[in-house]
Amino acid sequence: MSEATNVLLFFGLPGSGKGTLSALCTQHLSYEQLSTGNLCREHIAKRSEIGKQIDFAIQSGKLVDDSLITSMVLEWFTQNIAQKRVILDGFPRTAIQAQGLDEFVKKAQNLKPLLVQLSIAEDVVIDRLGARRTCSNKSCQAVYSLADESGLKPRAIDQCDICSSKLIVRKDDEAAAIKERLKLYRAHEQALLDFYADAGYPKLQLEANRPIEQVFENLKQHLVKV
Ligand code: AMP
Repeated sequence: MSEATNVLLFFGLPGSGKGTLSALCTQHLSYEQLSTGNLCREHIAKRSEIGKQIDFAIQSGKLVDDSLITSMVLEWFTQNIAQKRVILDGFPRTAIQAQGLDEFVKKAQNLKPLLVQLSIAEDVVIDRLGARRTCSNKSCQAVYSLADESGLKPRAIDQCDICSSKLIVRKDDEAAAIKERLKLYRAHEQALLDFYADAGYPKLQLEANRPIEQVFENLKQHLVKV
């Protein structure tokens, strides 16, 4: 595989498959994943001051403050700069965050981002999020689906296959919060895409309403070409 691209920016509606696709990339393509959602939930579990601020935003289906989330990501990047391939899952979510990342990328010079946009209809993700179950262990956070056709069913209905912790419905996967999250995504989507277009980021659009292995195949085919 070419080293032309080493930072994948996964962008798509909540439930479009960013996390599951990230897991396949880390397992099979030696990527390191940073999920800002997971990072936020880890902070909440630690009950730190930052964790309390984040908890309030997440519980109400809002976005965490741009400067807080950007500094968390850049700190992670600085610590993990030696990683050859990185996936940012769920970041940037606003044009301001994209700008913060862009400044960092320009300074670092060896980072070559590719925007990977997962396209999927809202009604499909609403069904997916309703069936989603997440491992309650904050250092695991594996994601499952109770939908038969998903291929992501846990072996036992309420237990994580990996660490045996209890599976839960995330608070923000409950119906009211889902609506709010979709609205937020739409509110920032165009400005974010405009930012990437103006900044000249290469972009790959993937159809996400298909089995995740196929989405992964399509991504792999693209990565060998760039
Ligand atoms: P996720 O697991 O990616 O769906 O994220 C869960 C929640 O974490 C989001 O609904 C936000 O409240 C918060 N969050 C995650 N990533 C970001 C981000 N890049 N900017 C602001 N808030 C975020």
